[in-house]
Amino acid sequence: MSLQLDLAGKTALITGAGRGIGREIAKKLSQMGANVVINDIAASTDADLTAEEINAQGGNAICLKGDVRNFEEIEKIIENTIDKFGRIDILVNNAGITKDGLMMRMSEADWDDVLDINLKGAFLMTKAVSRPMMKQRSGTIINVASIVGVMGNPGQANYVASKAGLIGLTKTTAKELSSRGITCNAVAPGFIRSAMTDKLSDAVKEEYFKAIPLGRFGETEDVANVIAFLASDLAKYITGQVVHIDGGLVM
Ligand code: NAP
Repeated sequence: MSLQLDLAGKTALITGAGRGIGREIAKKLSQMGANVVINDIAASTDADLTAEEINAQGGNAICLKGDVRNFEEIEKIIENTIDKFGRIDILVNNAGITKDGLMMRMSEADWDDVLDINLKGAFLMTKAVSRPMMKQRSGTIINVASIVGVMGNPGQANYVASKAGLIGLTKTTAKELSSRGITCNAVAPGFIRSAMTDKLSDAVKEEYFKAIPLGRFGETEDVANVIAFLASDLAKYITGQVVHIDGGLVM
């Protein structure tokens, strides 16, 4: 049987999917036939809109809000996902924040907030989905890291540490769960146009732009396309890898 870029019958949970990259991932995985669970923090109205838009286009989406830092809320999300769709096949740990500043001036609170959401959140989500995925003896987990987790970046000690940590978590997850038919990979986007990069100064944007061999900033769809492939059976022999989506910025 030839494998397809087709997710019909599968269920995908995407964290932080109310806007930006996560939203695009949810739309893409739905277009490929997956049932999608849109997670975002409770206050987000964007998450409801994303689910509504997907359903209006013939998809099958539900919105389950909850903070990725809160294990009780996560367990409820997983329980409700399985109640609704019967299974969970794909987890995309996408929720992430920045709180930039030079290390000398970075507060402990800013360090903790970024590590808690970007890294601990992914750990807690992975821990929670691993039980149903192990029972199914199948599943795939995709972590949204960043190229700065590979190369370092001044002014982002907390963010860089979280993304480098996520790469280590990816490899360990891949090794721990591979015997149960579960894969885990990371993507490392470069400069992708979104609310997160909109707030950077023109000088920083210009510097990035000059360093991108493909001569353009990335779009959210560039990330969603690669995740669609990694989530599909076409990628079933890939695990523990980090795929750069950066126009050649880091090579
Ligand atoms: P974004 O537009 O700021 O979206 C981040 C999403 O995460 C938002 O929907 C946000 O919700 C949600 N979120 C924040 N805290 C959360 C929590 N505790 N629990 C659940 N959801 C939470 O950022 P983006 O650019 O799309 O980034 C998505 C991911 O890609 C992040 O992990 C980021 O680090 C990574 N990335 C981005 C770039 C880039 O150039 N944009 C490059 C490399 C990696 P609210 O809307 O309610 O705040």
